Amino acid sequence: MKFDLAIVGAGVLGSFAALEALRKGKRVLLLDAGVIARGATVRNFGQLVPSGMALGPWRELGIRSLSIYRQLQPMVGGAIWQQGSTYIASTPEEAMLLEEMHAIDCAHNYRSQLLTPNQCMEKMPALRAEYCHGGLYYPDEMSAESGQLMPRLWSLLSANPALTLRPGTLVRDIRERDGSVEILTSSNESLRADQALICCGHLLNQLYPDITQHDQMKLCKLQMLRSESVPGIRLPGNLLTGLSIRRYEAFHSCPSYPVLPQPVLDPRYGEFGIHMLFRQSADGSIIIGDSHEYFPANDVTSIDYEVREDINQLMLEEARNILKLPHWRMTSCWNGYYSQDMSGQKVLLRSVSEKIHLVTGIGGKGMTTGPALMQNVVQQLLRGEALTLPREHSYA
Ligand SMILES: Cc1cc2nc3c(=O)[nH]c(=O)nc-3n(C[C@H](O)[C@H](O)[C@H](O)COP(=O)(O)OP(=O)(O)OC[C@H]3O[C@@H](n4cnc5c(N)ncnc54)[C@H](O)[C@@H]3O)c2cc1C
Repeated sequence: MKFDLAIVGAGVLGSFAALEALRKGKRVLLLDAGVIARGATVRNFGQLVPSGMALGPWRELGIRSLSIYRQLQPMVGGAIWQQGSTYIASTPEEAMLLEEMHAIDCAHNYRSQLLTPNQCMEKMPALRAEYCHGGLYYPDEMSAESGQLMPRLWSLLSANPALTLRPGTLVRDIRERDGSVEILTSSNESLRADQALICCGHLLNQLYPDITQHDQMKLCKLQMLRSESVPGIRLPGNLLTGLSIRRYEAFHSCPSYPVLPQPVLDPRYGEFGIHMLFRQSADGSIIIGDSHEYFPANDVTSIDYEVREDINQLMLEEARNILKLPHWRMTSCWNGYYSQDMSGQKVLLRSVSEKIHLVTGIGGKGMTTGPALMQNVVQQLLRGEALTLPREHSYA
């Protein structure tokens, strides 16, 4: 059987590309090396936060992705929900940034609401009063339990007879042959499609490494922790804090961002790219993170696979300055990896040939922006166009 589109990699990018191709009535082959999803897509926070994205196309893709998630919500049984995102300022200067961002949101018709310190404390009594200098709330933003979302999304996709899902299938080569694309697997199977789309995440040394491992491509290692269930504590939606306000690109557009005083913190917070985010799961446990260590993609031997205890301790120390919890017992810690294209486009979108295309290097924004980005990518492929980022529109 010949497919219209073969997709290599079934993380968030590949899976949402498959969803869009099915919606367009195409026959789709979706392959992943993992028997179940194991990449960045199931190791993340599941914060769907357009509010943090750089203003322009990325924020817009995030907002469009929210509506795709909203349509999917009834079909994935509780794995996606809407409780908004709340940013908490830890200094008066960060609170000023939140006010400026709220004005930007109003100008672009993106709903946000400024919160006084008292309103923040009412919403989340576990916040430390001395940390909180005000908040900004985005009611329309969503969260995902990624480890539940992906198996449910794979089942949903494979319930469509037009899709063939092949988990546990490593693709070792893709080439154009006799007017179509031949996909060769590690068990020497040969599969055929009109076009192929590679969404390989951080596994850049397998297919087209000469293109993916370019000088401005980095691999990023992140560490995360999960607490035991914390009875009596409610943290609705996504909780983002002072270090996130400083890190997230959206806030770079605020007039006072360039004069924001440096935080008085151990320099290792900067060295390990630590900013503090929290998200509570349905069982009451809290995901706490995260750190960012960068490695050059063209030297895969440079990456390390260890969970560093010193980084975990730094994150927990700052977490304790933000929240007052009845206990700080952790049940697990893990790391995740993504590839991040540091060039102007902030993602690697490339048509390798007329029929073979690559999307990777989306960095830390794949859950938030991936669904709409891949809708766009698939529509471009089906129109026979080379891949590009959509142009900027207004958010409304
Ligand atoms: C710890 C952490 C926290 C994060 N938090 C957030 C967040 O809160 N919000 C947000 O928006 N983003 C977040 N991100 C980023 C987000 O998770 C990623 O941007 C996104 O998951 C990348 O998706 P992907 O499909 O490109 O990659 P992946 O999920 O890694 O999927 C790639 C897939 O390709 C498969 N593959 C690769 N090569 C082959 C091959 N040759 N043959 C067959 N299969 C192959 C792999 O098996 C893998 O399943 C976070 C990431 C991490 C690591």
